[in-house]
Amino acid sequence: MDLGGTNFRVCSIKLHGDTTFSLTQSKVAIPRELMVAKTSQELFSFLAKQIESFLKQHHNDHFEGFHQKREAGQDLTDEHFFKLGFTFSFPVNQIGINKGHLIRWTKGFDIADAIGKDVCALLQAEIDALHLPVKVAALVNDTVGTLMARSYTSPGKTGTLLGGIFGTGTNGAYVEKLDKVTKLKKMEVKGDFDSTTGNMIINTEWGSFDNEMSVLPNTPYDDALDKESNNPGIQMFEKRVSGMFLGEILRRAILAMIKDGKTELFSDESSKTNDVHSTCTIADDSPLYKQWGLDTSFLSIAHGDQSQGYRITRQALSKDLGVDAASSEDAEAIKIITEAIGKRSARLSAVAIGAVIIATGNLTLTAGEAVDDEHKQLIEEEVVDVGVDGSLVEYYPGFEQYVRDALREIEGIGEKGEKRIRIGIAKDGSGVGAALIALVAGGIDGP
Ligand code: ADP
Ligand code: MG
Repeated sequence: MDLGGTNFRVCSIKLHGDTTFSLTQSKVAIPRELMVAKTSQELFSFLAKQIESFLKQHHNDHFEGFHQKREAGQDLTDEHFFKLGFTFSFPVNQIGINKGHLIRWTKGFDIADAIGKDVCALLQAEIDALHLPVKVAALVNDTVGTLMARSYTSPGKTGTLLGGIFGTGTNGAYVEKLDKVTKLKKMEVKGDFDSTTGNMIINTEWGSFDNEMSVLPNTPYDDALDKESNNPGIQMFEKRVSGMFLGEILRRAILAMIKDGKTELFSDESSKTNDVHSTCTIADDSPLYKQWGLDTSFLSIAHGDQSQGYRITRQALSKDLGVDAASSEDAEAIKIITEAIGKRSARLSAVAIGAVIIATGNLTLTAGEAVDDEHKQLIEEEVVDVGVDGSLVEYYPGFEQYVRDALREIEGIGEKGEKRIRIGIAKDGSGVGAALIALVAGGIDGP
């Protein structure tokens, strides 16, 4: 199961063992009131109930069989339980494959009593309360899931270096050499891990890069968004990059222009419908007046709009934002601001991706350093594979292209390096990765 910031997905996955898989899933929007529930039990019991209805719908034979055995008092062993991979995309201190304590909430969540608790235990308790045939086998961050899913599905032999999320929030996880993980040496409580590969996956939590704001770009809209969020001063990088925030930045920029009056946004006299002059109106209950009222999907529409007179953007203004009879100049202005917000987001994303690629030294060998022709060819062909997931990177028009343009400008990557970076969408990566990790963690037995 995958608890993102916006959606909750339950899925069962059949791996075909040949880079392909089939997936059955159910998806619900997480109710806003549960994101700020009084107790964590409210959220986790909702999640357990979703698992229950998924099992009834898609695995009813097993579900019924399990209950009959349980009621008849028969022994229930490991193979009667589904192994669950729990993708929980918030910062945790993970101390075992299915054990991790919540450090802090992000992305608009705020449930005080969960802080410091083992989120797997919280979930298992609610699963057990419903007597479901499910054991939480692995705790997975969505970035790690994406990295795993991309490694499984990506073409060729090259392993994946980095898994990145550009959805409600943004974050990345990458493969690091174990001996560079100094934190492990300092840790008083030793974590439980396998050192045979010499590697460890690091969840960077890059969403909180530069919280001190020493290098991040800033505008009055960013400032106001942060101050009125439920975690001011935290996740400052994420607040300039990801889906939860881009719409809110645009909303604040539009409101400022309306209030300032100098720009004539939505108030010029040239708004025309069927050659009849009509004045643009903004509904009193327009989402423009509500915090988080403007969804980032609107930016994708405006940014990608190639229609005559920006008809599509004007339709969306009317339908989504209650702004009627906007002029094409209005729509064009919105498009220009949107492009600035989207481009900034993608270029900042390139900073995070580029930093990981440079820090791991994956691009540093040059053909000139090759020991022989064969080696030279290998170096020249070598790709650095990056898997990404999330609605922003998936649907925002040209997002990857902006990322690539920026990567080329980064010292240490350049045109040559950028060509070697292969970026692929790991569709449903968070769910598939969780299943892969649960499989590895829990052994191959199971229904
Ligand atoms: P989650 O973060 O819960 O895993 P998603 O990856 O679907 O879920 O990301 C949801 C975020 O993506 C929301 O903030 C939403 O505003 C944004 N989003 C949804 N559709 C689009 C779109 N077409 N273009 C850009 N952003 C989108
Ligand atoms: Mg997600």
